[in-house]
Amino acid sequence: MLTLGDEEVAINLSAMRRKSMRLQLTAAGDVDLRIPLGAARSEVLAFVRKHEHWLLQRRREFLQRQQKKQQSVLIRGRELTIEISALDEFLITDQVVWVPQHWDAAQTEKALDNWLRSNARVDYPRMIERWWPKFSQYAAQRPVLRVKKMRTRWGSLSQRGYINLNLALMQLPESLLELVVVHELCHLRHFDHGAGFKQLMSDCLPDWRQREQQLLAFSRLL
Ligand SMILES: [Zn+2]
Repeated sequence: MLTLGDEEVAINLSAMRRKSMRLQLTAAGDVDLRIPLGAARSEVLAFVRKHEHWLLQRRREFLQRQQKKQQSVLIRGRELTIEISALDEFLITDQVVWVPQHWDAAQTEKALDNWLRSNARVDYPRMIERWWPKFSQYAAQRPVLRVKKMRTRWGSLSQRGYINLNLALMQLPESLLELVVVHELCHLRHFDHGAGFKQLMSDCLPDWRQREQQLLAFSRLL
């Protein structure tokens, strides 16, 4: 352990065949120190002390990034900050996600997940409903919605009559939910992404190509 500023930080120390010492901060925020075999304890300590300021700086940047990650969440295309609720309740308003003080990150994530899911159960069918009149001619029955967490796709249409939509679409602007819903419904008429498919997309959403670009930018969420 090493005291950095007012913090105790764990050091992963490894002695190996090398000429010089090397200090770095890992992606997990730990300190990694490699030293030559047989290095004297006093030398190692002196080396660490010499680089303490640099280490402290890196560590501070790391913590700031961590905090930023935990302090905001994207919902319907807007970044909401996560804050402690004085009323000790979980509540989502226009700009803020309020969480009880004693909750840890896992609890917050679970509550957010549930919230997204129950709202997807309202938003997604509503969007399908909006577009169904245009597509009802291509299918005997309206596809049945399944909300899923998917790692590689925003949506899909199965031949067995399901439309699968990614839960993460709840985090995107509504215009992109619309893009994905229309895209999947177009597959009722065209199975591939050929000229006919593109024509139908253009008939429905003249700006679908721009929306696809926007969707691509959000794909790191998956
Ligand atoms: Zn497709």
